[in-house]
Amino acid sequence: MPHPCLSCGACCAHYRVSFHWSEAEPALGGRVPPELTVPLRSHERAMRGTAGGDRPRCIALDADIGRRSRCSIHPVRPQACRDVAASWESGAPSRQCDHARLAHGLPVLTPADWIWREAAANDRDANPDGSDTPDDRGTPPPAPPPTIAA
Ligand code: SF4
Ligand code: SF4
Repeated sequence: MPHPCLSCGACCAHYRVSFHWSEAEPALGGRVPPELTVPLRSHERAMRGTAGGDRPRCIALDADIGRRSRCSIHPVRPQACRDVAASWESGAPSRQCDHARLAHGLPVLTPADWIWREAAANDRDANPDGSDTPDDRGTPPPAPPPTIAA
């Protein structure tokens, strides 16, 4: 099962995404693309598409909400985006996540939405049958490394 955010995107189309202007100022090390932002208050900018109107949607969002979602600037997204926790990803509910999902008609996440992660962590052989048998696909084991003469 993939990460729940990859089939959601609700929070990127629900909140105003504002942050200190320096995050979009390359001269100060800011990495958020300035052209994707708009000025807000004197010390703040916001992601374009989220600062006004009653249907905010971040310009960087590439999503069909509730089906598939990706942030097109994920490695350089603002800190405000990094701070939004997905409910139960770290063992606790998240009001921001829950509100956004409910606003888009999606059920809130529950601990059950993260069970796949435990299964993945326990799958020592990474084979898809869940058996943890080292060679349950019938493929030959890898050749041992060549010995090095002393
Ligand atoms: S609303 Fe929650 S599940 Fe959806 S993308 Fe945001 S953090 Fe992820
Ligand atoms: S920058 Fe990325 S993570 Fe932040 S609101 Fe926009 S699409 Fe979502």
